Formats: sequence, C-alpha cells, structure tokens
Amino acid sequence: MKGIICELKKITDTQNILVDESMKDHTSFRTGGCADVFVTPGNTKEAADIVRLLLAHDIPYTVIGNGSNLLVSDRGYRGVIVCMGKGCDDIKVSNTKITAGAGALLSRTAAAAYENSLTGFEFASGIPGSVGGAVVMNAGAYGSEIKDSASLVKLFDTRSGKIVNLSGDKMSFGYRTSIVKTHPLVVLEAEFDLEPGDKVQIKEKMDELAQKRRSKQPLEYPSAGSTFKRPEGYFAGKLIEDAGLKGYSIGGAMVSDKHCGFVINRGGATSSEILELIRYIRQKVYDINGVYLEPEVVLLGEDMKL
Ligand SMILES: Cc1cc2nc3c(=O)[nH]c(=O)nc-3n(C[C@H](O)[C@H](O)[C@H](O)COP(=O)(O)OP(=O)(O)OC[C@H]3O[C@@H](n4cnc5c(N)ncnc54)[C@H](O)[C@@H]3O)c2cc1C
Repeated sequence: MKGIICELKKITDTQNILVDESMKDHTSFRTGGCADVFVTPGNTKEAADIVRLLLAHDIPYTVIGNGSNLLVSDRGYRGVIVCMGKGCDDIKVSNTKITAGAGALLSRTAAAAYENSLTGFEFASGIPGSVGGAVVMNAGAYGSEIKDSASLVKLFDTRSGKIVNLSGDKMSFGYRTSIVKTHPLVVLEAEFDLEPGDKVQIKEKMDELAQKRRSKQPLEYPSAGSTFKRPEGYFAGKLIEDAGLKGYSIGGAMVSDKHCGFVINRGGATSSEILELIRYIRQKVYDINGVYLEPEVVLLGEDMKL
C-alpha cells in the first residue's frame, strides 16, 4: 500500500488520504473495521484519476458516498475506499435544472431546490445519502424516486476509462437499483430537472415528510434505514413483525420496536451482530411466510456474505 499512497499523493492533497481509517466514522450504522486507505477526492477529475490509478495497479477499491446504506465488515476493507464527499459536492442551479456533484448531500440538494422555488425533490430532503449513492440506489420515499427527475448522469466508465453522460432513461433505474449496480461505473455528477413551484408549499411538504419520518422511524439510533427491500405484495416491516421479531436482538443489533423494517445499532453493535440478525430475520420470515427478504443494505468486506 505504501507505493500506492505515494502515487495517490501525486493526484490529490495529502490531507485527503487517510490510512487505517475506521469505517465506523463513515457509516450510519457506526460499525465496521478499518479501511487500508480512505481517500476523499478533491474534485471529480481527481476521483476519475484515482480510480484509473487503482485499476492500473490492480488495487481493490470501492466508491462510496455518505455510507448511509453500508454494512462494512468488522475486519475492515482491504484496499482503497474512494469517498465522494466534500470536493465533489458542487451544486449549480440553472432555470429548472439542478446539477449536483456525487458528493453533495441530498438534504443540501433539496434545500437548493427549495431556495430556487423548484418542486419535485422534497422527497429526498430527509434521506441521509449523497447524490451519487442516491443515483446508484435510485433512492426513493413517499411515492417519489430519483428516477423521476434525474435527466442526465455523468459517469466514469472504468472499463473504457472515459467519462460518459447518460440520460435518465438510459440509467436502467428500477426499484432501489440502477445501471451502476451492474456495470463498472462511478457516478460523478447528476442533473435533476424539476418543476417551478411555490416556495411555501415546497417547505410545507418538506416539513410534513420530516415529521412523518420522525414519528415512524427510529432516527435516534444508528441504522441504514430500511434493512430490506420491499417484497412485491408485502411490506418487509409487517412480515418481520408478524414473525414475532419486534425488538428481537443479537448483541447490540436490534429489530427496531418503532419500525420493524429497521435493524438498529442500539449501542455497541458489531457488523457481525447486525449481519447475524439480518440472516436470522430472513430465515424466520421465510419459515413463516415463505418470503425471502432481499437486503437493501450493501454489504462490504470479504466475509460479508449472507
Ligand atoms: C435513517 C435513514 C433513512 C433512510 N431513508 C431512506 C429512504 O427513505 N429511501 C431510500 O431510498 N433510502 C433511504 N436510506 C438509505 C440510504 O440513505 C440511501 O440508500 C442513499 O441513497 C445512500 O446514499 P449514500 O451516499 O449514503 O450511499 P453509500 O451508502 O455510501 O453507498 C451505497 C451504494 O452506492 C455505491 N456508491 C455510492 N456512491 C457512489 C458513486 N458516486 N459512484 C458509484 N457507486 C457509488 C456504494 O458502493 C454502495 O454500493 C435511509 C438511510 C438511513 C440511515
């Protein structure tokens, strides 16, 4: 890793490169071991150059955003985590279009929409992810999703080494998925085409959705939001509750008693405990209802298999 750190220093500022960095500080679950190297590119060009370098040296890497949908192994990550955060978080507004860097938080992007009286992004204001992570996951809430407004996405195609722009309809957006899930692409930037709206109404909607979240979700505990995808025809939370798992815990990992769809870290949980609980829930729900729950949470690290 020493050699690669020297090479990274030629691309980005030394202070953007952290060695043996605890992933607890970069995931909303607040668990996980150390990444060998954790780099936060200073801009999107640096991000592409860093990924090019890692590919050329055959170094394992993973691009992340705000870590709000990640469960990282307690043993950490052998390789380089490229975090799209500060430095890749520019937000520009032009007429009805907002262009945001992959590292921009959804909350800030939604605030920019509000400031410019643009409607259609209120749903995202309470999702604690970055624009990049939200595009990858086609994040959604309360009947809206990224797909509805993403008009253009700038990506780094790691296979060709080129930067490509894909229109929203070429992104293969689906329920919590996109083309980035199945192709070696890095999201650098996204453009959202919104509608002119009324500032007061936009604010009212954002406040109403925030209130809904606070009343229904265990926001006081670390989690990654909904642990499982919604199975067709069911609600994951209801299936988990029906399986008698409300409040069930393994070590510090617990099925929230406020919202059974959330596995929370009630204090001092390890990623292994969370993973064990995820496995247990899947088996129990399958035994009782014959439905196999698919995790929405992304597992990271060699031993993180279901
Ligand atoms: C309290 C809480 C509430 C939540 N509510 C919702 C909700 O209502 N709706 C919803 O959809 N989700 C929700 N989530 C989950 C999460 O916030 C979203 O999935 C979000 O879009 C993830 O963004 P992120 O930047 O944190 O991505 P990360 O967690 O950092 O990464 C997610 C995945 O995307 C990949 N990735 C990230 N950035 C890039 C990039 N630039 N290029 C390529 N790959 C990348 C990562 O490798 C990983 O596979 C919630 C989470 C929490 C903790």
